Amino acid sequence: MALTQPIGPPESDATGVPPADEGRVTPAMAQYVEIKAANPDCLLFYRMGDFYEMFFEDAEVASRALGIVLTKRGKYLGKDVPLCGVPVVRADEYLHRLIALGHRVAVCEQLEDPAEARKRGGKSVVHRDVIRLVTPGTLTEDTLLDAGRNNYLLAVARARMSSGGEDAQFALAWIDISTGEFRVTECDRASPSAEIARLEPGEIIVSDALFSEADLAGYWRSLPAVMPLGRDVFDSATAERRLASFFAVATSEAFGALTRLELTAAAACVTYVERTQIGKRPPLSPPLRESAGASMAIDQATRANLELMRTLAGDRRGSLLDAIDRTVTAAGSRMMAQRLSAPLTDPAQIDKRLDAVAAFVADTAARAEGRSRLQAAPDLARALSRLALGRGGPRDLAAIRDGVLAAAELARALASLNDLPAEISEATQACRKPDGMLAAELSAALAAELPAFRRDGGFVREGYDATLDETRALRDESRRVVAALQARYAEETGVRILKIKHNNVLGYFVEVTAQYGERLMATPTFIHRQTLAGQVRFTTTELGELESKIASAAERALGLELEIFERLTASVIAESADIKECAEALARLDVASALAQLAADRDYARPDVDDSHAFVINGGRHPVVEQALARDGTPFVANDCDLSPPQDSGAGRIWLITGPNMAGKSTFLRQNALIAILAQMGSFVPARHAHIGVVDRLFSRVGAADDLARGRSTFMVEMVETAAILNQAGERALVILDEIGRGTATFDGLSIAWATVEHLHGVNRCRALFATHFHELTALAGRLDRLHNATVRVKEWQGEVVFLHEVVAGAADRSYGIQVAKLAGLPASVIERAKVVLAKLEQEDRAAPKGFEDLPLFAVPSKAAQEHPAADLLAAALAALNPDDLSPREAMDALYRLKEQAAKTRKS
Ligand code: ADP
Ligand code: MG
Repeated sequence: MALTQPIGPPESDATGVPPADEGRVTPAMAQYVEIKAANPDCLLFYRMGDFYEMFFEDAEVASRALGIVLTKRGKYLGKDVPLCGVPVVRADEYLHRLIALGHRVAVCEQLEDPAEARKRGGKSVVHRDVIRLVTPGTLTEDTLLDAGRNNYLLAVARARMSSGGEDAQFALAWIDISTGEFRVTECDRASPSAEIARLEPGEIIVSDALFSEADLAGYWRSLPAVMPLGRDVFDSATAERRLASFFAVATSEAFGALTRLELTAAAACVTYVERTQIGKRPPLSPPLRESAGASMAIDQATRANLELMRTLAGDRRGSLLDAIDRTVTAAGSRMMAQRLSAPLTDPAQIDKRLDAVAAFVADTAARAEGRSRLQAAPDLARALSRLALGRGGPRDLAAIRDGVLAAAELARALASLNDLPAEISEATQACRKPDGMLAAELSAALAAELPAFRRDGGFVREGYDATLDETRALRDESRRVVAALQARYAEETGVRILKIKHNNVLGYFVEVTAQYGERLMATPTFIHRQTLAGQVRFTTTELGELESKIASAAERALGLELEIFERLTASVIAESADIKECAEALARLDVASALAQLAADRDYARPDVDDSHAFVINGGRHPVVEQALARDGTPFVANDCDLSPPQDSGAGRIWLITGPNMAGKSTFLRQNALIAILAQMGSFVPARHAHIGVVDRLFSRVGAADDLARGRSTFMVEMVETAAILNQAGERALVILDEIGRGTATFDGLSIAWATVEHLHGVNRCRALFATHFHELTALAGRLDRLHNATVRVKEWQGEVVFLHEVVAGAADRSYGIQVAKLAGLPASVIERAKVVLAKLEQEDRAAPKGFEDLPLFAVPSKAAQEHPAADLLAAALAALNPDDLSPREAMDALYRLKEQAAKTRKS
């Protein structure tokens, strides 16, 4: 955000040196202005003693955002200076709120002791500078992060348009600085949004040019934190050099076969990290290339629809992730989310993961043992990152120790598993990698109880360092002397309630109640310092001497502890590669054993995943609905599904599912999509048996979904999304269409649904499930050889509908809409009236000739064929009118409506 007038650089000198008239601008203010000018798009947290202060517009913004008091301090260029501040000890909490609101914060610290500055003369300012920019994509603090989710910084780079007008290529690079992960991939024009939907980055950086591109402006605005940056950050000519220098290697050959565009995106990431971390290096892994197509492509709408990570309402509870995540560590939970959002497409890799799950399913004891060891493993990756960035505390060192120890024990425990599958044996090897000496050293050094911050001191164990022990003894001894002194003073003065106390202003002092004040004043020993309402305070020469002894001993002890901290941190960082591998291995083992636990708890089966186009699910269940029903003791009705190509034709089947509202159509559709996702992420699946030929793209659309937020009509959204499917789905895709065509008038909708089914069958030739309330569509099965009609059974019993949730071959005879409306509590009079209307409409319908069944595929329908439906509609509308029931006004309205409809019929 741009600064408004009053905070511009001082008039006299653009470098920020205070103007000659020092009465107007204090040196501290000049320093502030200079630092702020260098960080124009951040709120500046300006350290002053125990507070971070904000001035001018920053103060106004922050006080509004945080609900803290806005005050004034002094004047700058003749105007009041707005000010607000947050205490340093609570800074994290305020940072969290500001970041969540989309702000970026520059943290400016005092880089010397104020006493040093005073030595330079009365007017000298404490040396300060920005030590870190806090942005949404570069967080490391546990208090600012969700333990179970990655927080990515994503860079999007685009190739210069080729003159041939080819589709623009994009490269994406993303890092999680809190764990060190670093990935890159390339994709075509259509895919960046799907990748962004998968990664859900905390922050996205793009070049100014890409940011201001007209086509993309709306898209960038729809994302939470997009930061445009100058050309230099995305300069492809310097990319390789910047990467190589970050990783301190001679050439980027170390990064394998990254393309020029991928190097550009990756370099943008590291440059941004350097700019925000200011001299500190997170332990990033070298960028790892993800080849396009390595994971199932799932676009944003499909992810939302299938409620993979959260429900449509935005809650984690009720999502697929929530239903399947049994991990016991934060790193495991992050990996579970990653795998769920990017199911694999290579059957060999999928099988490797499934082997590990199967091993833990088979060996209950190893699973239980493994999971209890994992529970003791803290978040190694994040602790390591904080230590490397100089933001670590004693508890991070302890986390490294405990994580490394737990990993070693886990590896030992799992050695007993028979026939270790590759995934597990690789992980256990990685668990053994960190040097045992490091954990032993940390165990010896760290005290049992650890403070949150190293500045608190007291974290080094007694007996670890002889000099530290001596200094501490001196400090504590002096404290004992103070206690003895109190007793002696009480004795000498005869004031039994005399106390020696300590505060930050006076240091140590003697305190007595007001009535004894006079008595102490009369002695030469006691020097008066302060008189309060009830007490009088004194100091003595002896106390002053003791105090400085204590202070210097305490200071020395803390200094020694900090030195030990630095040494231990350095030895941790020296092993960061092994520690990271170990952390990742723990996460893998957590995920495998958690999925095994899930499979055992909920009776899941190992799927067969291969390169065929098969899709056979026997006894499939919906993983989330099943668990929700189980809580009420209701059983879930398992259903089969078979979309495999008839012979070995390659083209899959389409199931057209009809059935009344509430029968279970949507549930059936989704469960099959979710089973495919689970199988390909390497999980067992809620089915008796599943055979799935790898799905490369998954689409799921629900008719008339709400997208009011982006201001498009729901029907428009439905059609845009349907268009995307019809244009993109290939033979390996799986398409789930739920009530497409619902968002418009009946005949429009039916025609669109009709043509969509034909297109899927004839052109896309993919496996598909299509639920519809248009029973007319079932007639298509007569002509489309791979179309199969299925329906969800219901029973009518004493005029009420009973849902059996059982999917069987065939078409629904009718919709039971009125029965469902009755269940929903519509007034009886409305229900009765609706029955009469329906009976009439059905009578008319039977009389009218059917025009659909002989439409030629993809041909323009004949005029005659088109006229019938509209004429039907007019007849139905007429039949529904009961002149005896109408008021004169209603009769007029009806007449106008009918005329309008008749006009439309003629036009079409
Ligand atoms: P439709 O799409 O046909 O209107 P839904 O799929 O939304 O119906 O299902 C309606 C409700 O029926 C679900 O919320 C669920 O509680 C229940 N249900 C659906 N399928 C099953 C099933 N296979 N077994 C048990 N209950 C089911
Ligand atoms: Mg439905």
